[in-house]
This record gives sequence, structure tokens and C-alpha cells, in this order.
Amino acid sequence: MLTRLAGGRVIDPANGRDAVGDVYIRDGRIVDAPSGGEADETHDVTGNIVLAGAIDIHSHIAGGNETLGRLMLPELRYALDVVHPGHLPQPAGAWNTFETGHLYAAMGFTTVVEPAVLPHNALQSHLELADIPIIDKAALTVLGNDDFLLNLLRGRESPDAVRDYVAWTLATSRGLGIKVINAGGAAAFKDNVRAFSLDDEVPGYGVSSRAIVKALQRAVHELGLPHPLHVHCNNLGLAGNVETALATIAAAEGLPLHLAHLQFYAYGKDGPRSFSSAAARLAEAVNSAKSVTVDVGQVMFGQTVTISSDVLRQFNARNSARPKKYVIFDGDANGGGIVPYEYRSNDFYNAVQWAAGLELFLLTNDPWRVFFTTDHPNGAPFTAYPDIFALLMDRELRTRWMATMPKEAMAVTTLPSITREYTWPEIATMTRAAPAKLLGLKDRGHLAAGGVADIAVYAPDPDKAKMFREAALVFKNGELVVRDGKVVRQSFGRAFDVRPDAERAIEHRMRDYYDQRYGLPLDFMSVPEAAIGRPDPFERVPCNT
Ligand SMILES: [Zn+2]
Repeated sequence: MLTRLAGGRVIDPANGRDAVGDVYIRDGRIVDAPSGGEADETHDVTGNIVLAGAIDIHSHIAGGNETLGRLMLPELRYALDVVHPGHLPQPAGAWNTFETGHLYAAMGFTTVVEPAVLPHNALQSHLELADIPIIDKAALTVLGNDDFLLNLLRGRESPDAVRDYVAWTLATSRGLGIKVINAGGAAAFKDNVRAFSLDDEVPGYGVSSRAIVKALQRAVHELGLPHPLHVHCNNLGLAGNVETALATIAAAEGLPLHLAHLQFYAYGKDGPRSFSSAAARLAEAVNSAKSVTVDVGQVMFGQTVTISSDVLRQFNARNSARPKKYVIFDGDANGGGIVPYEYRSNDFYNAVQWAAGLELFLLTNDPWRVFFTTDHPNGAPFTAYPDIFALLMDRELRTRWMATMPKEAMAVTTLPSITREYTWPEIATMTRAAPAKLLGLKDRGHLAAGGVADIAVYAPDPDKAKMFREAALVFKNGELVVRDGKVVRQSFGRAFDVRPDAERAIEHRMRDYYDQRYGLPLDFMSVPEAAIGRPDPFERVPCNT
């Protein structure tokens, strides 16, 4: 069947296209305009915006921490209900996989990356990801606080050994890339360390955080993984931590490095409360470090829950829990912490955080290197995205929001002076073309022939947030799944992974390690396709060779 989307403004930055025209779909793929052939089905999208499906590179939608968060905060579901009253046909529980897929699709998102899968928890995480309808998924595998890697580094083993270990772990856990969370900090926490920076050493191993980041960055680069090492820096959330982020940017040393939720590291110590936005300084550093990419981790106001495998940070933040309950658990490698939090617009610190995120968006020049995230649910649930798009595209709207916030908070940021408004092509780059490139997904994020027909159509509305919240049409693999913000068809997507080559020797070594340390067989952390229970649940993304 040939489907035609007729007469919309087609914006496809990956192919330099921004013009009124048509897009054709056949057998789940985008195809060139047929000569003289009539389409079997035509959607008139005159006056609408036609983009590729959006791709979210960092959103915590599966895994042990998310499950604990859901169990601890069933009331969060009501927050979603306020956003989408009566929208969901069968709310089957609290903040669940079903809602995750439907709400993402309604906004025009078709691929989402879960950025923190602990290797030992990979099977459970993939089962949860597979249960999320409509969207495609991928997982980033977490290393950097694990005993095996720290032992390799303590023993000054060769970079080849680290590379083989990274390759084996990725293939076994079916990750698309490697994430490091407060490198060494969670391991140090086991020795009662409460503050840990880039050049601090993990007690007992004598290995610095910097050495861990550099070893992983090198392994990721040499394996040719499309996604650079994804770094959650040290000192998240602390006043003055801009120095840590700047030092980490400098440590990239010209090789690819991705810094996650940079807003949480954009804090100086200026002003009457010794807490200020240092986002302008940070954006300047990002602008000049061409090998570095960042995502923002925008804060929005309201109730949420912070969930992180940065157990040191979560432990230190436990007393700020709103409401007063939290879970902190230690465990192999990272452990984790769940701390509920309510961001308030009349709170000085929260208002500075909100402004710092927007400053990062607006002062980073290159939409190919700054990515759209709230670090869901840490800065805000992903359901807040439509409001953030509106704020980026409309300075008047920002002015109205700022007027409701503490003046002394806005005084320690540069946001009031920023006039930039994001354009449609910039939005399309940041949320489609750039993330596809950053993840190595060559047939997504664009609208050229051969691409997967993941397409989102938006009907311009004076209320921009409404426009983004309720996409006019969304196609997934060429099938219409959303009309006027309502899911009309439920499909299931796939997960992307990479399977880089490793020397066979590493497998024997891992077998001995797990047998001797844990008495476990090697396959205890593998993710068999049969477990997912659907045909072709994984799609392999090639490495650069
Ligand atoms: Zn995160």
C-alpha cells in the first residue's frame, strides 16, 4: 500500500529539506514520489508540520530503580492523569509501561533510550522495555563502579583487556552503549566516602574517577561504538559543581564524550545564597569542545521522583525528600536511590535550576550537540516536554513564567537577557536528526527514501504545548498509531543493540570470575531473544570499523 502525506511543511534537517511538499510511505519505509502513481491512501496535512519521529536519548523508563519508584509513589499516576484526563483506555496500575508507550507516542516520540541498565539487571530491564508499546527502545549498560573493571585498572592491565570486557558486557546485556555514573563514586560510597571528585581515588583500588572515565572512553572509541561514552559526572546537584563539569569536558581531550543532564552540574556559588547558575560558562565550554555532546536534564515544576544509580548523591539528598520517604540500597557496583522531590516555582534553588536548564538550551549554539531531556523523571516527568518546547520557542512565554518566580533567583542567572527562540528546523535537529546520528541509527531521524516511516505531524496552535502534547498524526513503521493526540493502534517496537567483537579469552575469564565470586553460571546475566516472546525483538546497530 502506498500512503501519501500531502501538502505539509516537511522539515528534515538531515537532508537539508524545509519546504511544503509530500512524503510517501510503502511497506513501513519512506519512499520517493512515484512517477504518476496514485496513492492508495492520502492524508491531507496542508498547513501542518511534518517531522521524523522524535528520539529521546536519556529517559529512565525501565529497570529496578524505576520499579521501586513506581511502588513508592503510586500517587504520581494522578499527576499524569491531570495532564491527560480520561485519555488512557485502561490504566493498569501506577505510572506503568503501557502509559509510557502511549504518552510518548501521543507527543510524536517513536524511539526512547533507557540510559542506566545495570548488567546484572539486564534481563529484567529488557523485559520491561519490551512491555512498553509502540516505541522502539535501547538500553545503555552501566560500568565504572564494578569490581571487575576496577580490578583491571588496579592491576594496570592493558587497554585491550578493558576493551574486551566492555565488548563482552555490552553483548551479554544487549546494550547500545556504555554509561558511567559517578565513576568510582558508588564504589567509594561502600567505604563511607561522602564526597568524590574527578581526581579522587576509590579506596582499596587506588584508581581515580578520571582514570575510569578515560579507560571506558578509550574502549568505547576503539570498539567503534556509534554512541560515545555517556557520562553522569561526579558531584551532581552541588553548588560550585560547574568546576567538575568543566574539568570533565576538558578530559574529553578531543575524543567523543557525552555528558548527561548537564543542568544538574551548572551551578556556581555566587549571589546572596551562594548558589547561582553557571550555565553560561558551561555552554561556552561546550560550544568550544567540538567532540562533546550534552543533554540538558531540564527541571520543571511539580511533583516527581528522583531515581539514580548515583547512590552516593541520592544518599546525600535523602533529607530533601518531598514527601519524606526514600529508598537507598547498596549492591553490586552502583546500587541505587529513590528520593521523591517536588520542584517549586517559588523556591529560590528550584527556580535557579529551571533557568539554568533553559540557559544551556539557549546558549549552546549547535543543535546537533545539545539534546532534549528532563532526565525523566529526575528533572520532570517526560510528560512535561510539550511545555519545554513551548518555552524554547517563545521568549514571551519565558518572560511570563519568570515573572512568577523569585526575583533574586532570576538575578543569579542570565535567562532574562536571552532573546533566542528555537526555530522548527532547530527543534527537528535536536530531537530527530541529531539523536539518530548520536546513536548510530542510520534509518531513523530523517525523511529520505529508505528511512523507517516513523513520522510525526503537528498542527500549529497558538498553544504550542498543546500542539506538542497531541500530535495530529503519528506513524510508526508506516502505520498510523496516533490521531489528534489519541492512540488509535497499539503495536510493539524493538530494542537496538550493538554486538562488538571481543577475544574469546574474556569469556573464560568472566566464567571463572562469576563462578568464584558469586557461584553463578555465566548466562545468569544474558538476555535471550526467546525471553521477549516476540519475533525479532532486537535490531543490531553496526559498529564503526
Ligand atoms: Zn539519568
